[in-house]
Amino acid sequence: MISVSLDRLVPSHIKRFVPYIPSKPDDVLKKLYGCSRLYRLNNNENPLGPTPEARKVIKGFPPPRASIYPSGDAYHLRYRLAEIYGLHPDQILVGNGANEVITFVIKAFCQEGDNIITADKTFAVYEWVAEFSGFEARVVPLKDYGFDDEGMLQQIDERTKIIFLCNPNNPTGKYWDENRLIRFLDRVAGRQIVVIDEAYFEFVEKDDYPNGITLLNEYPNVVVFRTFSKMYALAGLRIGYLVGDMEVVNIIRRTCVVYSVNGLAQVAALASLDDQEHILRTRELVKQGKEFLERELTNMGLEIVYGEGNFMMIRLPISDSLAYRKLMTQGVMVRTMTGFRFPNWIRVTIHKMEAMEAFMESLQKILSIN
Ligand SMILES: *Cc1c(COP(=O)(O)O)cnc(C)c1O
Repeated sequence: MISVSLDRLVPSHIKRFVPYIPSKPDDVLKKLYGCSRLYRLNNNENPLGPTPEARKVIKGFPPPRASIYPSGDAYHLRYRLAEIYGLHPDQILVGNGANEVITFVIKAFCQEGDNIITADKTFAVYEWVAEFSGFEARVVPLKDYGFDDEGMLQQIDERTKIIFLCNPNNPTGKYWDENRLIRFLDRVAGRQIVVIDEAYFEFVEKDDYPNGITLLNEYPNVVVFRTFSKMYALAGLRIGYLVGDMEVVNIIRRTCVVYSVNGLAQVAALASLDDQEHILRTRELVKQGKEFLERELTNMGLEIVYGEGNFMMIRLPISDSLAYRKLMTQGVMVRTMTGFRFPNWIRVTIHKMEAMEAFMESLQKILSIN
């Protein structure tokens, strides 16, 4: 019997890394928790589903095309996005979800001894990718539930390559307005790549919310992330993209894996654009859901934090993992926040009213408040 020399083979940063464990499939969970229904309120998915045009394209996808490699660089989608944003198509890189473009950027700019800066309580993938790639992630505490510009500027040193901003921030929903973002970019002054993750861009209605793409001319060190997973409800097909200055994107492109974005995702994404109606209906659903939850949770005396985006954070009087298990027995799945460094908070996706009511009923039951 041969044994693998794992101790010598595995780099120390991999030995240290604690892997993320995804949730089990619905059928398995229902059996495990003995529930007949399951509302997934854990991933900020859009309950309205894909746009009508995207549905048509998905339904009509010719099965023989499954045997053909897709466009290796999402050609038609990039050309359409470029037209919409007034950019050159080569300023856009499409990935297998925004998650994949995070890895592109880190691989393109970081080498041994380098670091990235982000917040301590934000989308965790920036930190994870940096760490399992062997780079230091400097996580700066949030201030008033938002990114702390001063705190982050202070952490910059010679080896800082990338600063990740999540605007609006998942999970708190707080955002930087245009003035604040510009002040920050002026002080960074091109010394680092500044990634602005706009995964929830289409949900934000505030006038002072900045569109990172419009800042590219002035600030060529900016890289903007967008995704089709949230507003456009294509999370299951895995497609997102980054936008940047031509020279910067030409560097990042060197780290892209061709064919990582499948053909169905590409055509469904292309068909999703231009549906303003879908965006308005989703925003309306989110608005109503937030109003309902805010009223109900405040009545229960629970502390909540939310802002832009289709999610809300709730502080519980019990442990978040216990609440998770209890809510699961009621057929409601939420996101525990201990992993986001918010112990005893949960994050709930804003869903259809029926699901919001089921969530409130279950929450009242498990906290035995009537
Ligand atoms: C959901 C999410 C993403 C990742 O989206 P995918 O395109 O599904 O990989 C990126 N950033 C933030 C802040 C998100 O919430």
